[in-house]
Amino acid sequence: HIDMPEAVRNIIHTIEEHGFKAYAVGGCIRDSILGRNPDDWDITTSAVPSQIKTFFKRTVDTGIAHGTVTIMIDKTGYEVTTYRIDGEYEDGRHPKSVEFSDRLVDDLCRRDFTINAMAYNDTDGFVDEFNGLDDLDAKIIRCVGEPELRFTEDALRMMRAIRFSAQLGFTIDEATWNAIKKLAPSISKISMERVHVELGKTLMSAHPDYVAQYSEAGLFEPILPVIDNSLKSRYKRKILATLQHTPDNIYLRYAALFIASTPDEAAKTLRALKLDNKTVDTVSKLVKLSKIDIEETEPAVRTALNQYGRDFLPLWHELMMAVIQASEDITGISNPAKVKHLLTLKRLGTDILARGDCFTIKALDISGNDLIEYGLQGHEIGETLKSLLDIVIENPKLNDKATLIAMIEHIK
Ligand code: ATP
Ligand code: MG
Repeated sequence: HIDMPEAVRNIIHTIEEHGFKAYAVGGCIRDSILGRNPDDWDITTSAVPSQIKTFFKRTVDTGIAHGTVTIMIDKTGYEVTTYRIDGEYEDGRHPKSVEFSDRLVDDLCRRDFTINAMAYNDTDGFVDEFNGLDDLDAKIIRCVGEPELRFTEDALRMMRAIRFSAQLGFTIDEATWNAIKKLAPSISKISMERVHVELGKTLMSAHPDYVAQYSEAGLFEPILPVIDNSLKSRYKRKILATLQHTPDNIYLRYAALFIASTPDEAAKTLRALKLDNKTVDTVSKLVKLSKIDIEETEPAVRTALNQYGRDFLPLWHELMMAVIQASEDITGISNPAKVKHLLTLKRLGTDILARGDCFTIKALDISGNDLIEYGLQGHEIGETLKSLLDIVIENPKLNDKATLIAMIEHIK
């Protein structure tokens, strides 16, 4: 028995009252059985979209061509999709066509893994044609049908297999795994946007270290050589250990993945993955920070805050703690001096922020306009502000307009 949300029960009931079949299907069934909270509830039905639309007051055409209508209940949308047979795959990406069916089993057949191919409603209970329940029990990711065929239809499924194994802590079935290894080069047909979604979910999962499977399977060699090399080299253990200790923040997890790369390599790879600018920028800065040491003085910490921004302090601290923990795990040698150093830097940073010390040109008690009034012009203005900031970073007590103006003559 599955405890479905009331809205889902009502939708299924309404469709049944009109003489059609409907079931909750896919990820929501898998997650409910595992005691995880489903992200969303998908419904599959024997009725076609034009019929579904007459059964409910508020519907949105979100994917009519693929048989999907979204039913709005309060503010939540529920996707209702007609039983579907996916046509021949043109390019390992999109089915050329979809065909509606009146048999639930056809719809279950097209799904990727046995644990994702179960349906349920209160009338019929579980429909589990492919023994998904057994695989859930045994913690196995297994293709529905013939693995090579399924991965040839859609190469992204190879990444999904590893992503689900990381999220659930499951093992990939041998035949499924062998097919991934065999067909790995075809991953280059998949857009980088779809690749980064799966990679991101893997990095953010309960087992981020399972990312090594992408490399073991040969999926990264054709598309992400920088990550692949690191995961094959002596850095591998360090990266995996660091990932496991890194809090579940996407920037930190990506940074941990690049701990053995240069900031430029990281930025290049993240851009190739078509990640947004904020992610590229944040992660490559973290990678850079992970390679430098900061002196245990307030001016050094203020300089770092100037270069990297205030938001970096907690991220950098977490990353470095994870790096230290990883080294400890691997070598068995603890490094209390390093931990103490990090804690000191963190305390210095926290104090600086709490006091509101100036560490940016913007926070100086003097502006470019003030300098113009004083008689400076052109590049002198910027250079002077920069020099004044250097002085204030050394000694924040000097951040006072009159004091700064008095200093201008001396630094020229
Ligand atoms: P999550 O939402 O946590 O990513 P999910 O299982 O709900 O997991 P979705 O991508 O939302 O995954 O897809 C919903 C369902 O659609 C899956 O459970 C699966 O049955 C099917 N499905 C999704 N993508 C594919 C695919 N590429 N090939 C075959 N079936 C798929
Ligand atoms: Mg889903």
